[in-house]
Amino acid sequence: MSSLEGSARAVMLEVLRHGPTSRADLARRLSLSSASLTRLTKPLVVGGLLRERSAELLSSTGRPSLPLEVVAEAAYFVGVKIVKDAIFSVVTDFAGNVVMRREAPVHDRSVEAVLRVIEAEVRRLRRSQPRIAAVGVTVGGMVSEHSTVWGVSSLGWQTVDLGDLLRHRLQLPVTVENDVKAFAQAEHWFGAGRGLRSFAVITVGIGVGAAFIANDELVTGHQGLAGLLDHWPLDPTGPECELCRHPGCVRVSLSSPALERRASAELGRTVSFDELMDLAGAGDPAADRMARAAAHQLGRFTALVANMIGPERILLSGDGIGYALVAEPELRRGLTEARHPRAPADDLVIEPLEFFEWARGAAAMAIREHILHR
Ligand SMILES: [Zn+2]
Repeated sequence: MSSLEGSARAVMLEVLRHGPTSRADLARRLSLSSASLTRLTKPLVVGGLLRERSAELLSSTGRPSLPLEVVAEAAYFVGVKIVKDAIFSVVTDFAGNVVMRREAPVHDRSVEAVLRVIEAEVRRLRRSQPRIAAVGVTVGGMVSEHSTVWGVSSLGWQTVDLGDLLRHRLQLPVTVENDVKAFAQAEHWFGAGRGLRSFAVITVGIGVGAAFIANDELVTGHQGLAGLLDHWPLDPTGPECELCRHPGCVRVSLSSPALERRASAELGRTVSFDELMDLAGAGDPAADRMARAAAHQLGRFTALVANMIGPERILLSGDGIGYALVAEPELRRGLTEARHPRAPADDLVIEPLEFFEWARGAAAMAIREHILHR
């Protein structure tokens, strides 16, 4: 793997991203002659990175075609998601399938203490799967150069070159990324965005995130600054955000804690986000109104992203996406209202997020690094 030339890397990536692919399709997509493709794929097959899938018949011509697929067990990757009170880890194979998962509590949020927990977790995972090729780590904050995190308010960290510190401790390649960007990368290669050249992801939960794939590439922006839309003023009539002081910013309009605060104030008792969604689903008038208002604003926010990026598909996800499911017509109404009048109908996928998916995103970044930069 260490000496993959550029074109062989492109072949690997193409098969990884699209799943089993025939040689004819690969040659066409990469603008290669079939002779060049054969020359490039041979070492990948001999080296155990690609293999031929069992024979399938091409219905149009009746000729047998043997699609190439990634050898999933050729390498394994650890993905780590850091939150303020826990470390979530997974091991995935080369094809992004999760084969192991772990959760460990974080009692001390200092950089040193968190590094110790990650090191211990990776060591435990390596005992079960020694063939770990690389590690990916994600946080809900800014990350530049796939290594340095900054502005992670939930952990109280200043600027930390997390990648460098972990590489020394783990003696493995380490790549660090913002959690939403990493999730978008994983969904682009292995999930809702598979096979698409442009794709947008919006996640809603404790925070609100947006990440984009344009021309097949994850958009990171200068120093990782792409996608900072969480404090964008969305609703001028909305409540003021205590962080940015904008009235009705994206976060104060759409995040689960903001909705919990609003619901608790309105109902005169502590209401969790999940309870609010249950109440809305059961037709409670106040909860229903709050869910519909949030869904409507999420539709407007989705229009902003769609107008800017022009994605083929938009994935709306996160553990706080419930109101988009409870009040989808309101979401669609908000989207239509703020979308460009000439834009075609949007391909929306609304999917709740299982928390370990964040760690899988981190592993996807490790896979990417392994193919592109080793
Ligand atoms: Zn704000």
